Amino acid sequence: MEDFDAAIIGGGTAGLAALKQLANLGRQAVLIEAGKDTGTKNVSGGILYSKKPRHGKVFNAEDVFGSSFLAEAPYERKITKYILHATSGNKDYSIDLTRAHEYQSNYGCSVLLNKLISWLSVVAEESAQKFGGGIVSGVHVRSVKPEAAAEGSRMIIETDELEPFRCKAVIAADGVNSETAVMTGAREKFSQTELYQGVKVIVKMPEQIIEERFGIGPEEGAAHLFAGDVTLNHIGGGFVYTNRSTLSVGAVYHMDSLMENPAQPSALVDALIRNPVVSELLRDEVPVKSEVDKDLPKEEQLRTRFAVSKMVKNWTELRDAYYSPTGSQKMIESGKYKTREELKARLDSIRSDLESKYSTKFVSDYVELEYSAKLVPDGKRCMMKKPYHDNVLFIGDAAGRGVFIGPRIEGLNVGIDDAVRAANAISRALDRNDFGKSMGEHYSQSIEESPFTHDMREIDKDYLKIFLEATRGVPKDIVGQRYGMIFRLMSSSTLRGLAVGLANILGYDRLLPLVESVDTYVQVPMEIAEKMGRSVDATYQPTIPSLADRIARLSYDDDRKSHILVTDPQSEFIKKMVVLCPTACYSQEPDGKVTLQHEACVECGTCSKGTEWHHPRGEKGVIYQYG
Ligand SMILES: Cc1cc2nc3c(=O)[nH]c(=O)nc-3n(C[C@H](O)[C@H](O)[C@H](O)COP(=O)(O)OP(=O)(O)OC[C@H]3O[C@@H](n4cnc5c(N)ncnc54)[C@H](O)[C@@H]3O)c2cc1C
Ligand code: SF4
Repeated sequence: MEDFDAAIIGGGTAGLAALKQLANLGRQAVLIEAGKDTGTKNVSGGILYSKKPRHGKVFNAEDVFGSSFLAEAPYERKITKYILHATSGNKDYSIDLTRAHEYQSNYGCSVLLNKLISWLSVVAEESAQKFGGGIVSGVHVRSVKPEAAAEGSRMIIETDELEPFRCKAVIAADGVNSETAVMTGAREKFSQTELYQGVKVIVKMPEQIIEERFGIGPEEGAAHLFAGDVTLNHIGGGFVYTNRSTLSVGAVYHMDSLMENPAQPSALVDALIRNPVVSELLRDEVPVKSEVDKDLPKEEQLRTRFAVSKMVKNWTELRDAYYSPTGSQKMIESGKYKTREELKARLDSIRSDLESKYSTKFVSDYVELEYSAKLVPDGKRCMMKKPYHDNVLFIGDAAGRGVFIGPRIEGLNVGIDDAVRAANAISRALDRNDFGKSMGEHYSQSIEESPFTHDMREIDKDYLKIFLEATRGVPKDIVGQRYGMIFRLMSSSTLRGLAVGLANILGYDRLLPLVESVDTYVQVPMEIAEKMGRSVDATYQPTIPSLADRIARLSYDDDRKSHILVTDPQSEFIKKMVVLCPTACYSQEPDGKVTLQHEACVECGTCSKGTEWHHPRGEKGVIYQYG
């Protein structure tokens, strides 16, 4: 049986940071990832932050992947504008939260996980190989157990694809639906009160049109958050983030409120897209092919369809290149076009041919590229109190860690910080040949010292102050008596200090129903929008793809054997999945029983609590292109 110093389960941002940090420390580690390639199973919003807390130290991506991280990593845009929108119908009131986004931050940049993780993998693997480690993808870990009953004994890892192997320590970075946590008995599956469900679509938009639309420069990015009626009465909100030449548009809602008031996840994204502020942000020019004349001979019909498809593809590619400085440059360097003007002339001529010869219309609409979904652990409710078990250390989503407080959405950076602390604890244990409780306690203590743990536990009065200052323009009497009184109380720094001090003594748990409620996420924003908002009229109706179309566009390597087993097809929980599964894998039969067809599953984990749930076997299941 092969032996390693350390094994990491899961190749998301957290797992890869752990692999790189272990290599930085000169340790041998192997990372096992279920996806065919790393980055094909991961979903985020996502803004990757680098933080500089006033008290304590956090480990950022550049601490692990090197000081040239920002210069080399394929991030999308540095977010320089952060806007919160309160919505009601066509009314919109926006609040500039850029200062809150910059709070204790070096930077926050938008990322697409497939691209970022591919890069992290290359860098981490290159380092890991120097010490006899590396990445093995397409392998699903199905069992993690100690070799013997003795404290600190080695761990045996079994997979669906490889021979079992042995290691001294394990890092579980297998995400929110961590099977390692459940199979080792480290924790139970997260409950609905501890989770959010995130659903996202990637929208295509040429680079310079993004910059024009969002009022940003080539090196800048914007993040827009949405609360109010777009939530369809749920606790959470919507977001639109600018990437280089795409937008990430998504909705993240608390599972509790979804269980209480079930809504199809794709319908939640649709509600966001239909909001006039959002639809105007997504608006682009889209060619609509006309029907081919059915009276023409079959061959002629086919020829026409083929010609139109080819021209539309050409037009789209040229347009993307024209609206991108690097794209235009490449076209000119290739010798195809001498100048940007020439490129534009060709673009116009294809368009004119499409219009005149083939009756193609160019309309305002938007284009979706990918639909995705994933659960998000609400760190303040579910971070593991004891983030280790035997020789296994839990990090990132697997440990239920993340700072999700109002507009603060941070899971990626928290996982990276955890990864460094876990790798350091393993390295120390290897030096001392002292694993088990001693290693776990050392890691636990390091996690306790992380400023992120503090943020998951207590209200940060400085952040609150910045948030309240941003909402200064909202008269206190328009948000109802209860919240008006709270706003007034909070505007005095002395009273705010006392209130936050008291709240932190009482504990976050007691305060959460007041801070996170339908009132705060829906009613108050709606009141603000109705009374103070500007009217925004949509200039077009977005053509939103059906769920079936969204699923059809996804790639899968189907495992004929289902990775999910429904144990009680009559339970109230499973009946709710008929609505809450993002890809409608559940349906209810006339006899009331619920059945599952797993083929379209995107492995979000929403149904996990009421089923026997595993990730698919290695390489199988959904394959995200963007993430
Ligand atoms: C819609 C949405 C928006 C978000 N927005 C933000 C944001 O703006 N900023 C931010 O910081 N965070 C955001 N988050 C949270 C952030 O994306 C997560 O916290 C982060 O991606 C978790 O990383 P991870 O490495 O812990 O887990 P994951 O990325 O889930 O990685 C786990 C990996 O483990 C693998 N795996 C699982 N089980 C096994 C097994 N048994 N064997 C082998 N491999 C296995 C999986 O295939 C996967 O690759 C958002 C999340 C969502 C869903
Ligand atoms: S079957 Fe379960 S895990 Fe799969 S997409 Fe539906 S809810 Fe998510």
